[in-house]
This record gives sequence, C-alpha cells and structure tokens, in this order.
Amino acid sequence: MRSSIERIRKDIERLAVFTATPGAGVTRYSFSEEDRNARAYIRREMEDAGLRPYEDGAGNLFGRRDGRTNDAPPVMVGSHFDSVPNGGAFDGDAGVSTALEIARILRDERITTERPMEFAALVEEEGARFACGLYGSRAMTGLLGEAHLDTFTDRDGGTLRTVLRDFGFAPERFTTARREPGSIAAFLELHIEQGPVLETNGIDLGLVSAIVGVSQFEAELTGRADHAGSTPMTLRKDALAAAAEVVLALQAAARREGEGTVGTVGKMRVAPGGSNIVPEIVNFTMDIRSSVESRMMRIIAEMKALMERIAMRDALGWRMDEKVLIPPVFMHPEIVDALEASARSRGYSARRMVSGAGHDAMVMARLAPVGMVFVPSRGGRSHCPEEWTEYADVAKGADIMLDAALRIAGKAE
Ligand SMILES: [Zn+2]
Repeated sequence: MRSSIERIRKDIERLAVFTATPGAGVTRYSFSEEDRNARAYIRREMEDAGLRPYEDGAGNLFGRRDGRTNDAPPVMVGSHFDSVPNGGAFDGDAGVSTALEIARILRDERITTERPMEFAALVEEEGARFACGLYGSRAMTGLLGEAHLDTFTDRDGGTLRTVLRDFGFAPERFTTARREPGSIAAFLELHIEQGPVLETNGIDLGLVSAIVGVSQFEAELTGRADHAGSTPMTLRKDALAAAAEVVLALQAAARREGEGTVGTVGKMRVAPGGSNIVPEIVNFTMDIRSSVESRMMRIIAEMKALMERIAMRDALGWRMDEKVLIPPVFMHPEIVDALEASARSRGYSARRMVSGAGHDAMVMARLAPVGMVFVPSRGGRSHCPEEWTEYADVAKGADIMLDAALRIAGKAE
C-alpha cells in the first residue's frame, strides 16, 4: 500500500487556493470565508473516502470511520488547516492531506480495522485570528472553557462567541468539544519540519521524539536617563549596558546546556532612545526552549539571579515576568518505534529529532499517546510563501503514518 503523490498534490494545491492573499502566500484565518471553502473541500474529500464528517463545538472538523469494535477509543490522524498571514501551502495542510490520503487508501483496499478511526482537520492552531495558538486541541482537552468565549477577541473586535455564531456554530456547544483522557487510542500528526535539518542531511523523514518545552519572559531593567556627554562612566545607571550582559549570558547558558537548548532575546525597546542619552529603561523578551525540562529551569533560575546581581551592582530596578511556561512533551516511545520500523521496511531514511516548534500533538498528549512525523522543508523555510515540501516526501510520511495507524487500530481479518 502506497500513498498517491498525485492525490496529495491535488489536496495541497486545491487548499492553497483558499487564501485571502492570492499571489502572496496562504492567508487562511479561522472562521473566515477561506476557512469555509477549505472546510467544504475537506468535508467532500472525507465523504468521498467513506468517512462520516462531523464538527465539534469548537469548530474542529472530523471524519469518522467505523471499526469492528465501535465503542473502542478511535485512532486519530490529522493536523490543522488554518494558516499564519502570508504563510505557505504546506504548514498544516500537508498533515490534513495525509489524513485524507490514509482514509482513501483504507477505502481502496477495503480494509476494516478493529478500532474506529477519526481523521481530523483542526482549527486555529496558529492563533492568527484570536492570538490563541493551539486553540482546537486546547478546546478538545478542556484547557479552554466557557470563559474564553468572551475573552478571546479578534482585530475587528469580534469575540470568539460572536465569531462562532456568525460562522454557524452554537457557542453554547463550545465546551462539548472536550474529550476525556483515554477517549482516543492514539493521535498521529504529520507536519513539515519548518527547519533545515532533514534537507541538509538528505534524510527523508523525521521521527519526532519530543516537542521542546517553551518558556517566555518579559524583562525590564530601569536605570536613569542622563546626559551622555557630561555624566562620568562611574556615575551612570545604564540599563542597556546591563541588558547587554543578560543577552550574552543567555546565549552562553543555552550553549552550555546543549542538547538543542536555545535562548533568544528577540525583542528589545530602549527608552528614551536618544544617541546622547544614557538609556533609562530597557524592555526585552527572553525565549528559552529545551527538550530537557531541568535545563530550561536551570537557565531561567540563572537569568533571574543574574538580573538581580546586575541590578544590585548598578543600582537598577528589574523585573522578569513569566508569560509562557510549557514543559517538554514526549511522543510515545512505542509509536516512535513503530514509525521507525515502518520507515526501515519501506526503505525510507529516517532519524529521530526534537521539535523546536509547538504543535497540536503536544496538547493532544494530554488525551492520548501521540506520534509525529516531520517531512523536509526546502531551505528550512516556513511561515512564508516560499514554503515548499516535495509531494513525494509527504507521501513517504503518509506511508509510515498509515502503517503505524493500522498497527494501533488493528486490521480485522
Ligand atoms: Zn503548523
């Protein structure tokens, strides 16, 4: 059984048409006209593959396929179908196409599984509309509730409640999207790598072993604005010079911890911001990620201690506020083994890797054992119109997802 490169190409090309920015990449916000059109396409493909489509209270779309034991927890395969502004045609859609293709193969081969299967197209993973990433999976796990209907707003001032209603969903059904831990036998997701590792090393497929933990902080150092000409160096309270020490220390700490640990200061604001004024207030972000929780926590503690030490030495004010703290999530070892065994038997090169980006699978791990396959991104590019993955590579990924899904769902004789 092999996935059809042509059918995968068709899915991805058709879905790419549903963009608010034709000629400038895929822009598909959740619950927009483009969402409605993409949804209609996916639903038609699901029906054509013999699935029973339904939507949950949060707006996620599923196609159900009966198994011999229908009250058993289903095996779920899928990804998201929303996009960032001016993104590419593969982020999310490659995984949705993979799910559709697996369903089509099961139809063509007339396979009956022991467990039922569900094929998922999740919504608002990117958080481009409500600034709420991983929305669909978070609603499924109960991490989002009733209260969020009125607190999530889009740029036009619409709340999640009004947007859902206008789109045709009943907001009072929102919390019915929630599923219980154990109600899904396994969740499998194919996604583009969004980085250069697979292409650089000439490897067909990535087998995700873990998704890194993410921590983000907003930091501030406060000194005193003085004349840059007449204030001696010894009498200054220079907040930017102090911040520079923190930036370099974060780099050094991440390098020292290793194992893919990364630390980034990506945003900084200097006030008052004059070439002849000693910097008074510096606001900056710290983004620290690692697949090893203790390494992430060690860096955070070190940065706090450093901020305090520098502030004492230079008589500065300081704060470091936690905005995000998500521990690393591990894929299920048996699923990783099954994916690896399938790749080997099919002659595809594969290697285990850690995902530096968050995905729905990391949230779904609260409900079920999860497995994730990465396919190569040309030039490592993603979240841009240039994003590209060879359709043949998506098909290889779909092949090993099919094998793993069948293994968990059980083929009925
Ligand atoms: Zn994605």
